[in-house]
Amino acid sequence: MNQRRESVMSDKRVSFLGLGVMGYPMAGHLATHGYAVTVYNRTAAKAQKWQQTFKNQVADTPAQAARDADIVMMCVGDDNDVRQVAEQALTVMKPGSVLIDHTTASASIARELAQICQEKQVDFLDAPVSGGQAGAENGQLTVMVGGDAAVFEKVKPVIDVYARHSQCLGESGSGQLAKMMNQICIAGIVQGLAEALHFGERAGLDCQQVIDVISKGAAQSWQMENRAGTMIAGKYDFGFAVDWMRKDLSIALDEARRNGSTLALTALVDQYYADVQKSGGGRWDTSSLLTRLR
Ligand code: NAP
Repeated sequence: MNQRRESVMSDKRVSFLGLGVMGYPMAGHLATHGYAVTVYNRTAAKAQKWQQTFKNQVADTPAQAARDADIVMMCVGDDNDVRQVAEQALTVMKPGSVLIDHTTASASIARELAQICQEKQVDFLDAPVSGGQAGAENGQLTVMVGGDAAVFEKVKPVIDVYARHSQCLGESGSGQLAKMMNQICIAGIVQGLAEALHFGERAGLDCQQVIDVISKGAAQSWQMENRAGTMIAGKYDFGFAVDWMRKDLSIALDEARRNGSTLALTALVDQYYADVQKSGGGRWDTSSLLTRLR
């Protein structure tokens, strides 16, 4: 990070709305990098815990947090949550300020918010993230951004406080569309890995030994490197939940119906995740696809 650019940006007043698994550490990185941060969380206890840890300001409402802020970030649940929280923040955001939404949501809500922001002379970026809880805690997220490239360049030093890579990929909605590509890839890769482990177990192989070998070759993936061992051990408590994945795949499948793309594998894996939910695994991580096969 260019230190002079960061110190110029840290004069900015920043507010962060939504201190969940992702938002809590992201807002924490802003505070530890010297930004004056005001946070808001619907469940006040989390905001109080954050305040005790990071010694910055807490607000009681999104509007109170966003008042006077130069940059307002948010990371909540789905489209409805984004609409609710953003609408409240936008009642007070000043012209020239920037609203950055890190939630994984639809491209249409991104375009809708960009339009509302434009009317209020506020800049808007859709900026979903990848990298999971560990990426948020280590400040190593990948951020996929949609919106005005010049606005992105202005706020990039702030985003990069918790990102190892951030990039503007086109007009409003492009960040969300890129995140959909990310989730489409993950669905197919995790199902492939689950099937390989299922096959290996039935074949009587030592699956961990096989993974150690094939992860050096063309079958290698992040999922193989990071999840195969825990899948073999039957442990499914490693971050991104099946319930969230189904929300993301539903957004991608809706978008595919709009743009005419064929997502046969994604649609199938989405139904497999529905099976996992039915068996009580909504909060298990996405690698729990293997439970259907065992
Ligand atoms: P989470 O732990 O469930 O946190 C959600 C946050 O949003 C909480 O602070 C919640 O407040 C707040 N919220 C939800 N609806 C709200 C509403 N209507 N009004 C006000 N606040 C509201 O979720 P997360 O894991 O941080 O994920 C957040 C977003 O990032 C999701 O879109 C998710 O798909 C995406 N994401 C998650 C991961 C991951 O590994 N977890 C990875 C990449 C992307 P309360 O505390 O009051 O519930």
